Amino acid sequence: MDRLDPQALVNPQGAMPAYVPQGEECALFEHAWRASLPLLIKGPTGCGKTRFVEHMAARLGRPLITVSCHDDLAAADLVGRHLIAGGDAVWQDGPLARAVRTGAICYLDEVVEARKDTTVVIHPLTDDRRILPIERTGEQLVAPPEFMLVVSYNPGYQNLLKALKPSTRQRFVAIGFDYPAAPVEQAIVASEAGVGTARAEALVSLGAALRRLTEHDLEEKASTRLLVMAGRLMASGMGEEAACRAAIVEAMTDDPDIVSALMEIVHGVF
Ligand code: ADP
Repeated sequence: MDRLDPQALVNPQGAMPAYVPQGEECALFEHAWRASLPLLIKGPTGCGKTRFVEHMAARLGRPLITVSCHDDLAAADLVGRHLIAGGDAVWQDGPLARAVRTGAICYLDEVVEARKDTTVVIHPLTDDRRILPIERTGEQLVAPPEFMLVVSYNPGYQNLLKALKPSTRQRFVAIGFDYPAAPVEQAIVASEAGVGTARAEALVSLGAALRRLTEHDLEEKASTRLLVMAGRLMASGMGEEAACRAAIVEAMTDDPDIVSALMEIVHGVF
């Protein structure tokens, strides 16, 4: 199956989030969904992972439930908990349980941020059993074929404490994302920001120049998201340098010397 079934392109929830493909990722996502396999998306921040998942959920006609993981995220935040209502303890599904019950796509963004004991609750959902045991209620939810678990993380942030355990990561089909190739990124910046071809090209070449800088000066590279934000400021009438300073340079560093150095690169492009 190389092409998506046109029937599957119907999106009952309204407008489909726009997505410019970088390669064969849409077909891979659909194959994984049809084969009931969970998907791991690796890549730097702001390169399109979330938009890709939003687009595919709409394209496959499934609801999307997204959880932004953080180091305080407990298993109960995913599975659910008893709440007291009128003196009674009433069970309330967490987002993962809700996704399993409704056959949704559940997206755990930055999954390595979650505590290790939290990550373990997804294990029985990621093998052949495809179940979510809810200890507190004694229930065992069986995931319907439409359910899919998608997780993402940024390998750049990875350190020994935060690495995804092999026992977790080897349960997923994995795909690596990176900043898009120049022509693709130009199409993204032009359509997302509403700028013309010349500005989109200039922003993308600025992004490429900034990404060539040595990594120890900067924590994070200039993402597609930052280029889109600068383009939006320009489309709203802001000057090019001021837009690049506010949306890109100041977002990348707090160090005044590095701000000046990056602004030199901006001057060179605009
Ligand atoms: P991530 O989840 O990797 O941090 P996002 O998916 O939030 O990144 O992307 C950030 C922004 O960049 C999006 O809101 C969108 O404007 C733009 N973007 C990045 N890649 C694409 C793409 N392939 N198609 C359309 N927009 C994109």
